[in-house]
Amino acid sequence: MFTYSINFAINFIISGINSNKLKNSKPDFKRIAIKVGTNVITQADGSLNDGRILRLVEDVAILYKQGIEVVLISSGAVAAGRSEVSPSKKTNIVAAKQIWAAIGQVKLMSSYQFLFGKYGIQAGQLLATKESFRDRLHYLNMKNCISAMLENSVLPIVNENDAISINELMFTDNDELSGLISSMMDCRSLIILSNVDGVYKGIPGRKETELITSIDEESEDLDKYISSVKSGFGRGGMLTKCSIARKIASQGIDVFIANGTRDAIITDIVNRKNVPYTHFIASSRKATGVKKWLSHSDTFAKGAVVINSGAKKALLDEKASSLLMIGITKVDGFFRNGDIVRIVDEMGKNVGLGKSQYDSKKAEQNIGKKLEKPFIHYDYLVVNEKNKLI
Ligand code: GLU
Repeated sequence: MFTYSINFAINFIISGINSNKLKNSKPDFKRIAIKVGTNVITQADGSLNDGRILRLVEDVAILYKQGIEVVLISSGAVAAGRSEVSPSKKTNIVAAKQIWAAIGQVKLMSSYQFLFGKYGIQAGQLLATKESFRDRLHYLNMKNCISAMLENSVLPIVNENDAISINELMFTDNDELSGLISSMMDCRSLIILSNVDGVYKGIPGRKETELITSIDEESEDLDKYISSVKSGFGRGGMLTKCSIARKIASQGIDVFIANGTRDAIITDIVNRKNVPYTHFIASSRKATGVKKWLSHSDTFAKGAVVINSGAKKALLDEKASSLLMIGITKVDGFFRNGDIVRIVDEMGKNVGLGKSQYDSKKAEQNIGKKLEKPFIHYDYLVVNEKNKLI
């Protein structure tokens, strides 16, 4: 079995402060996703910080009243539950987290519902697992649910269903979930709130460390500058935030990483006030719905095909093309017609992925043949070169 793993967002970039790009980039906030990290809304002991939640709710309510559609992705369930119950010694850590999530999610939602209610806003809960994004029908059901909520002025609050998503069924963290949701809901912007001002070149808090104000597709690698230190109760770190942010920006969505412990940070970003944050400038390319879904489907791939250099060149070409059987030199794994399959070159480097039109047996039988039906049609194909979603 191939062990290649596609990472669509490896090569990180610094553009530092690039005034021209900033001037030219006009983020749109008509529909936004806001991700609130555990460390923003919990206190040192993990219990919910009601004052902070209230201030965030106030901030969101201002946007809401201006007609901006908001989808909130909020962490904090596990931490909120942990402060309530200490499971017995014979309860393992996985089960303990399930219990905490089961208790904490109710507390979290009760807080949000109560506080949004004070502003006349009805909030509703949507819990997702990674599996919810695997099947396109499930994905569309989820999308329809959130769309219907927005149409009916119900504010969707999304979290991972931590009580049942364990190990491989888990998202890396809620940053990943927020990326999926903003992409799925065609949001114009995503604001990721954590307890630091943005992405730093070095370790936050040190004198020599500077905040990177804007990042775009063209600049140099940034990974090496980012501290991988995590703080507090949340699962995500800055590296995963950046990787998600860049991937989402490549889909044409502006992403901001900012400090959720600063009052009015959301409205300040929307009103382009001079507050600290890191802005991942949206690419001008707009991916289709299917390609967006596919670009997040790497972990659901059932097998892989190796392609020759001619096929690779064709896929990476500016002009659109499908992957034909003639360009395939090897088929690996067991997959059905319609499953997601990875594409790798002869050196084992990831090229992309897509929805196959053959099952693995048929594909094997037709390796290298000149057949009309593509192995992956262009409309169901994403190529990861330079993060583009062709
Ligand atoms: N879904 C988790 C929670 O609500 C948080 C995951 C994360 O920290 O990103 O506690």
